[in-house]
Amino acid sequence: MNYGDYIGNLVKLAVESANGDEPSELRREMFRQHRIAEPDAERLATLLPGLRDAVQAAAQGGPIDPINALLEQHPPLIRVDDHDGEGTPHLHFAPNGEDAVTWLGRSCGAALAHVVCGDPAVTIGRCHAAACGRFYVDDSRNRTRRFCSNTCASRTTVAAYRSRRKAAGESA
Ligand SMILES: [Zn+2]
Ligand SMILES: [Zn+2]
Repeated sequence: MNYGDYIGNLVKLAVESANGDEPSELRREMFRQHRIAEPDAERLATLLPGLRDAVQAAAQGGPIDPINALLEQHPPLIRVDDHDGEGTPHLHFAPNGEDAVTWLGRSCGAALAHVVCGDPAVTIGRCHAAACGRFYVDDSRNRTRRFCSNTCASRTTVAAYRSRRKAAGESA
């Protein structure tokens, strides 16, 4: 796993946690590879508001304070690991086998810090659909994605079509 992919995966974890999504296959796989047990729900709930603020800050390119607050609460510990096989070391921001909430705090804080600084080029967006506000990692080629899901995209298209028809109807 290269540096960009590793940070990209951590950013996806940060985003799904901030959204309050059901644990994804990616999260299960990241937890398994790094020997992280499922987090205690109550402790996880204490991490989420700060994590959400940090994700929002990374999505908007600032302010940086929420990211620094997360880093201060869960200071990253840099490690190198080759669990993908000998000779394939990659960077870790937290020790394997750690408590899940601490691991998430350290790892997501470090990854979001990289994102807000523009390195590597991982883009976080916030859904443009009315009353959604979910975050997503934009890995479209030109970083032009505007919605968290196809559902929100088509919901918005239908709403725009209806309001155009309504406007046309009313002016006729
Ligand atoms: Zn790893
Ligand atoms: Zn959405």
